[in-house]
Amino acid sequence: MKPSPNQAMQPTAPRCVAWKLTAGVTVFLLTATRVWSQLVPGSLEVHWYEGAPDCNAAPQDALQIHKYEPQTFILRQSPCADFEANFIYLLIGSDKALLIDTGAVADPKAMPLAKTVLGLLPDKDHKKLPLLVAHTHRHLDHRAGDPQFASLPSVQVVPFDLEGVRAFFGFTDWPNGIAHLELGGRTVDVIPTPGHNQTHVAFYDDRTGILFSGDFLMPARLLIEDAAAYRESALRVIDCLKTRPLTHILGGHIELNEAGRAYRFGSHYHPNEHRLELARADLTALPAAFERFNGFYARYPNYILTNPVHNLLALAVIAVAVLIFIVWGVRRLLRRRRG
Ligand SMILES: [Zn+2]
Ligand SMILES: [Zn+2]
Repeated sequence: MKPSPNQAMQPTAPRCVAWKLTAGVTVFLLTATRVWSQLVPGSLEVHWYEGAPDCNAAPQDALQIHKYEPQTFILRQSPCADFEANFIYLLIGSDKALLIDTGAVADPKAMPLAKTVLGLLPDKDHKKLPLLVAHTHRHLDHRAGDPQFASLPSVQVVPFDLEGVRAFFGFTDWPNGIAHLELGGRTVDVIPTPGHNQTHVAFYDDRTGILFSGDFLMPARLLIEDAAAYRESALRVIDCLKTRPLTHILGGHIELNEAGRAYRFGSHYHPNEHRLELARADLTALPAAFERFNGFYARYPNYILTNPVHNLLALAVIAVAVLIFIVWGVRRLLRRRRG
């Protein structure tokens, strides 16, 4: 479908831009936005497929579907289908639906994502409900399934590059401001959250009170591209959610076990996974974690901060130092022998 971006969103409506508002406007906001009692409850009672040490010996469905509540679905790609084991979210309103991310697998035979999503969509006026496909960010494991949706009728895919994201949602002062997607009886706020990647956004759903946080915040390695931007994003989200009920924070991956230890990178086997959902306390602790961050690695019970570029550089420096030491040692040995 080709609605203009403005049909899908109203970029300047002040639903979540709390920090610069006057007290009077804040009072208005408090009365205008949903409160706890209006949230639709849901269930996270589910055991996610854990993959297997040998996936060929333990075939399992590529995609796991969990109904959080009748209009909110969590889809999880099996660790056997791809080690990234992405979480994908489908939010259904009365006028349209929103799919957050398309996961790590492109091949519809291996990962029938579009077919599954269309199967979950209700009909409206004898047609499938229009679907908007958006991404938390441009990394391939969050958009590899896009081609499955490209030529479907009544489906619109949001661009994944920064200019495309800004233009579609109508951000004029990125990363400031909040955009809003109206799905019909359900509003989703789009909050810029660069730091892991410059295109990153999080989605706050006013029906369930869930923050869909992508790779910005999840029980996994939080890979840092820009620490200052990441911290600013955390402060922005905290501020934005100050006056809003928050039930859960649901991210793009689980990479930790129950004890908070990370699975080996690339592993298709996730025994005893950490629970998917994080809480407001995990979000509010993030800015201080960044202030203390040594620039390389820091472990917390529910996430790990890590800067892969810095770690790689540190490894390279160590490798060069070891090499110099070996060369020095060999030369010294040879001199002694000659002596
Ligand atoms: Zn990512
Ligand atoms: Zn990811």
